[in-house]
This record gives sequence, structure tokens and C-alpha cells, in this order.
Amino acid sequence: MSDCLFCRIARGEIPCRKAYEDEHLLAFHDINPWAPVHVLVIPKRHIVSLAEVGPSDEALLGRIFAKAGEIARSQGLDDGFRVVVNTGRIGRQEVYHLHVHVLGGPDPLGSSLKPLSSY
Ligand code: AMP
Ligand code: ZN
Repeated sequence: MSDCLFCRIARGEIPCRKAYEDEHLLAFHDINPWAPVHVLVIPKRHIVSLAEVGPSDEALLGRIFAKAGEIARSQGLDDGFRVVVNTGRIGRQEVYHLHVHVLGGPDPLGSSLKPLSSY
């Protein structure tokens, strides 16, 4: 998609702080981090969201998750990390190009969701 923000980053038209790149994937640091380390892993090919994937995307999704640990370790996350995939309106997705947030730092992360009973 020509005007998609993350497609433009994948094509090098908008700069990013790269953490990993190969033929199919790009990982770069989030511009507005939620944690000391916050990397976004995206497929270079435009996929709208996790709700839109089909059988032809299985290999690409597998690649993203298979690389997440390596990318996390390359950023010093040797003791664990969290992945988040915001999806659609309910998931508060803001950029409609599938991306996996990889989050971590020196200390355990706060919990982003609370038990329903606490509302
Ligand atoms: P989401 O809410 O899951 O769609 O997350 C989109 C993420 O993209 C947010 O965490 C933004 O901070 C991040 N973001 C938006 N524009 C850029 C950019 N130009 N470079 C890096 N990260 C960005
Ligand atoms: Zn895109």
C-alpha cells in the first residue's frame, strides 16, 4: 500500500532506527516507547492486521514469531520480554499494517490489563 506508514518505512522512504532486517521482515524501534526496549517487528509485505491473515500468510507470521526471541536478545532482553499485537478497534490498533510489539527492559513490565473484577 503506497501511503501506509509502515510500508513507507519498509521501503526506506521514512527513516527508522533499525533493529533487524531480512528479505521478509523489518524490526525497528518504536518512536514513542512504552518500555526501555520497544521494537516493532513488521512483515515488509502489507498485511492489515492479525484479523486479516489467511493461509497464505502462515509462513510470514511464523517467521515473525520465530525471529522475535533473536531480535529481543539482540537488544539485551536475555531474561524475557512481552509481545503484543494490537488488533482492530477493540485491540486499539493505530497503524493498520500488522506489527508485533516486542517489549522489555531491566525490570519486569507492568501489567497492561487488569482483572475484570477490579473495574
Ligand atoms: P498500535 O497501536 O499497535 O497500532 O501501535 C502503533 C505503534 O507505532 C505505536 O506504538 C507508535 O508509537 C508507533 N509508531 C508510529 N509511527 C512510528 C514511526 N514513524 N516510527 C516508529 N514507530 C512509530
Ligand atoms: Zn503497509
